Amino acid sequence: MAFPAYELAAAGFGACIGSFLNVVIYRLPQEDPTKRSLGGRSHCPQCRAQISWRDNIPVMGWLLLRGRSRCCKQRISIRYPLVELLTAVMFVLVALRPSAHGPLLLQGAMDASLLLPAIFDATFVSFLIASSFIDWDHRILPDALNIPMMWLGPTLVAFLAPGYAGTLGSGLSPEFDSILASALGLAVGFGSCYVVHVLGGKLFRQDAMGFGDVKFLGAIGAFLGWQGALWTFFLGCVLGAVGGMLQQAITRESKIPFGPFLAIGAVLVMFFEPALREFVFYTWPEWQRTSPLALPIVGGASLVSLLALVLVVRRGRRNG
Ligand SMILES: [Zn+2]
Repeated sequence: MAFPAYELAAAGFGACIGSFLNVVIYRLPQEDPTKRSLGGRSHCPQCRAQISWRDNIPVMGWLLLRGRSRCCKQRISIRYPLVELLTAVMFVLVALRPSAHGPLLLQGAMDASLLLPAIFDATFVSFLIASSFIDWDHRILPDALNIPMMWLGPTLVAFLAPGYAGTLGSGLSPEFDSILASALGLAVGFGSCYVVHVLGGKLFRQDAMGFGDVKFLGAIGAFLGWQGALWTFFLGCVLGAVGGMLQQAITRESKIPFGPFLAIGAVLVMFFEPALREFVFYTWPEWQRTSPLALPIVGGASLVSLLALVLVVRRGRRNG
């Protein structure tokens, strides 16, 4: 096996982006607008001392300091290096996707524009990570992340990487078809979650799926297309229901944020959509043909998941 220079570069770049995502996760939801700025040097949240670049090196900084800040010896949450590690792993997986032509680029064999889908993948994954942790901490999915991604999908991404969010076979130019596919994904993601948001509010008087979830799934649809949006919603509901029940069993706290489960669903769709499609078009019809219980079982499980989820998800009062 050759020296994994390409994989290491993706991991190193991912860890640095992860370090930035930690800043986004910490600063973006601050109530005080002056603390929301993403620029400037890092300061210790406890004593406000400036943090040197050595101590800010992703993962390594935390390990060398053994989880305590140099300035005031306060414990630094292990979540910081974990977010950096997670981002690094996701960037390697993205770089190794068949659609990413990085290895060929290194050999100078391919056009640089082939790297664009990988860059958009990395942007999308970063968005999912930052949103998930903010939702976990504050029960909000901020507009500051949702809205730019809802714009980016059907414009820049669809135009520069035709077919990124799928194709519609509209007979129009590849760029225009791609823009329509992304816009349709946005509409389907937004619309399906909106219906549950309204129904959940009407039927259960719960602030179940907030408007932040609606926009979040809209942004996901703009990147994954309409089928990807529906898959993400379905997987997010099943995972969220299971996660909510597990949490209730362990901690007696039944409320969960929905964002992280949608994000996990979106990542599964990103990497396993062919397998999901195989299940729907081959395994599933075969199962239905041989077992009359297939439809009631899956339909019932989906419905139960959705109901459990509506009761279990809690939303913050602030918009999102
Ligand atoms: Zn300090």
